[in-house]
Amino acid sequence: MGKVLIIGAGGVGTVVAYKMAALPEVFSEIMLASRTKSKCDEIANKIGGNRIQTAQVDAENVPQLVELIRTFKPDLVVNVALPYQDLPIMDACLETETSYLDTANYEPKDEAKYEYKWQWAYQNRFKEAGITAILGCGFDPGVTSVYTAYAAKHHFDEINYLDIVDCNAGDHGKAFATNFNPEINIREVTQKGKYWKDGKWIETEPHEIHKPVNYPEIGPKESYLIYHEELESLVKNFPTIKQARFWMTFGQEYLTHLRVIQNIGMAGIEPIMYEGKEIVPIQFLKAVLPNPGDLGENYTGWTSIGCRIKGLKDGKEKTYYVYNNCSHEVAYKETGTQGVSYTTGVPAMIGAMMYLKGLWKKPGVFNVEEFNPDPFMAELNVHGLPWNEVENTDLEMDY
Ligand code: NDP
Repeated sequence: MGKVLIIGAGGVGTVVAYKMAALPEVFSEIMLASRTKSKCDEIANKIGGNRIQTAQVDAENVPQLVELIRTFKPDLVVNVALPYQDLPIMDACLETETSYLDTANYEPKDEAKYEYKWQWAYQNRFKEAGITAILGCGFDPGVTSVYTAYAAKHHFDEINYLDIVDCNAGDHGKAFATNFNPEINIREVTQKGKYWKDGKWIETEPHEIHKPVNYPEIGPKESYLIYHEELESLVKNFPTIKQARFWMTFGQEYLTHLRVIQNIGMAGIEPIMYEGKEIVPIQFLKAVLPNPGDLGENYTGWTSIGCRIKGLKDGKEKTYYVYNNCSHEVAYKETGTQGVSYTTGVPAMIGAMMYLKGLWKKPGVFNVEEFNPDPFMAELNVHGLPWNEVENTDLEMDY
């Protein structure tokens, strides 16, 4: 059906490649390109069957990207490298008139700031070029955004309160490790909290607001209010939302390590001089921390991510909870990666499938909740991320 170029051979790229390779009727040709070609070759060899071609590319170098895209001629570029590369890859897509999909919004290297403004600014140029950009097609953002669109379409006349709850109750056996790229992860969780209330953003100190939340099959876990990028697009696309918050669970051990890392300056994003060489502390830290892609082997337990929604249906108040629980062990058995890479890579594959099937294809730049959620929700059940829904239950959220 179509040709896909995947950029980024990390944990998420591995899952995308595995999942696409298993669907030759949709993904007829696949190329995996990354900064280090040997990582692409290793993944391609594990998958076997000559399903994956590989290439080296520096995704911050637009001419290199353009050359690769012109040579391979994909229908869609799937960006699962790092958020820093979103804009150069979008530039290369514009130049070659190729559609684009990613899982994380652009972030400048010198400022830990998650905003869609840089990517939304491409709207007119993508529209004029007749190509599609699908933004934020991982789990959160991604599935959580589609869950919200699905709830708005089938369960509510008006969504008023949205709480996205993200629990990782897994145990990888390490004293400290991050579940996806350490640099991006630590930048995300150490920034100030922020949530939407009555038409404006309320800022909080990092981890200032927290409460125990019960997760299905897992039980109560302390959950911390943090800012997460899908809140920005969801409150724009669903203007009846009065309050939107994002909660993530952290263990005490993780938070203690994080506090020490911050206190000793290792989370710094400003370059410092070390033995005559400029280094960025958080990038050095990444080099010594466990590689998230290698955590899978001994990872046990579950992730549980969902949307807890309150709103109106037929003039009456209603609550709705939609979620997925994913087992790290099952994810590892299938793809050799842990659950966080899996829950991100599967939706990216499904988003690419939606594009190639023409179901999510229109000129311009879109967040995933702007497309029809139904076919995507159906494929989640088929490809390893089945969802559950509970209506009129106690959401355990105070409003
Ligand atoms: P990894 O660090 O494991 O992988 C990133 C890959 O990108 C690496 O293989 C790296 O190559 C490659 N890369 C980095 N810079 C460049 C460059 N300049 N040119 C080419 N390739 C480059 O990260 P993850 O797989 O854990 O995460 C991938 C993406 O998924 C991130 O953007 C992350 O924010 C996002 N994500 C989204 C989630 C969601 O639910 N929406 C959840 C989790 C992650 P090399 O190895 O050679 O350095």
